[in-house]
Amino acid sequence: MESERDKIFVTQSSMPPYEEYIEAIKPLWDSRWLTNMGQYHKELEKRLKEYLKVPQLSLMVNGHLALELTIQAMGFPEGAEVITTPFTFISTTHAIVRNHLNPVFCDVKPEDGTIDETKIEDLVTEHTVAIVPVHVYGNVCNVEEIQRIADKYGLKVIYDAAHAFGVSYKGKGIGSYGDASVFSFHATKVFNTIEGGAVTFSDRKLYDKLYNLKNFGIRGEELVTEVGANAKMNEFCAVMGLCNLRHVDEAIAWRKAVCGKYEKQIREIPGMQMLGAKPETEQNYGYFPVLVEEDYPVSRDELYTRLREKGIYTRKYFYPVTADQACFKNKYRGIELEHARKLAEKVLVLPVYEELSDENVHYICDNISEMSF
Ligand SMILES: *Cc1c(COP(=O)(O)O)cnc(C)c1O
Repeated sequence: MESERDKIFVTQSSMPPYEEYIEAIKPLWDSRWLTNMGQYHKELEKRLKEYLKVPQLSLMVNGHLALELTIQAMGFPEGAEVITTPFTFISTTHAIVRNHLNPVFCDVKPEDGTIDETKIEDLVTEHTVAIVPVHVYGNVCNVEEIQRIADKYGLKVIYDAAHAFGVSYKGKGIGSYGDASVFSFHATKVFNTIEGGAVTFSDRKLYDKLYNLKNFGIRGEELVTEVGANAKMNEFCAVMGLCNLRHVDEAIAWRKAVCGKYEKQIREIPGMQMLGAKPETEQNYGYFPVLVEEDYPVSRDELYTRLREKGIYTRKYFYPVTADQACFKNKYRGIELEHARKLAEKVLVLPVYEELSDENVHYICDNISEMSF
């Protein structure tokens, strides 16, 4: 019976109805304007600014370059230190290191996986220039305390908000905290533009700076004022974004329902734990991480393998922590990462997407619970 089942992957990209997208891209055949900040690029920036409740927004070709260029835009001196979390996708650490800065890894809180703000101050030195926290799984960092520390030491705060599309905290868009926040619109994220990303911020000067960095520093037909890269979003991606944006509230509502069903069933399984959400937060239900504790009958890795055999593809997000990856191991300060490493060893992200059926949620939970009885 199992063999007849379709594979259940950890996610499935959100897509608008085929006809809707095809209709929406038709004008591109008339205009032949395919990229370079076209009509749809402009429109998507405007719409996203409203949706995310942020003062300024710059679209980018992907989330990683959005982060890399935002850090570059701050103009930090080479070799300066950036306090960050190792419990994240490798992109966060890469963006720091590729800017010739040194990541200083801070441990995370076991209850939600975000940077442990009580441990940040101890890591600040005269070389520290910024904090790069991550709203991992859409869990909101302690933005107030992080801002207090940043103000005290004159540090910039750049949030990796790749998981936090549409999340709000205390009624404010999550992208309005810190000096800047970076979103990913990759195909696997809650909202996608196939590939894409954005930076949100309030300082209007940063818009021009990022514009230069994403478009070769070109300011006129014969004028290049800065050494920039190419990180522009093209019009096909922008149209995908405009279409997906129409459906994103519905998609998040579906995800919420899926996560609610998981929660009910996972809570009953001995040895399974879940992470907690911060109060006063509106979530986006992008991920459903579970923690495989010691009293669960098999190890996390064993569970991962057995589920795979049943066609259920979970992910060990984020194992190993970035500080322990081959390219970074033993290279940087901040190695007391007890909670981050423990989380990385226990966590399993279960499949979540809007079309995941009740039947499949049951099937997944039954397989998890079967092993514990
Ligand atoms: C997806 C992701 C990124 C990178 O975004 P891309 O759009 O794939 O380049 C960065 N940080 C985190 C935490 C992510 O999950």
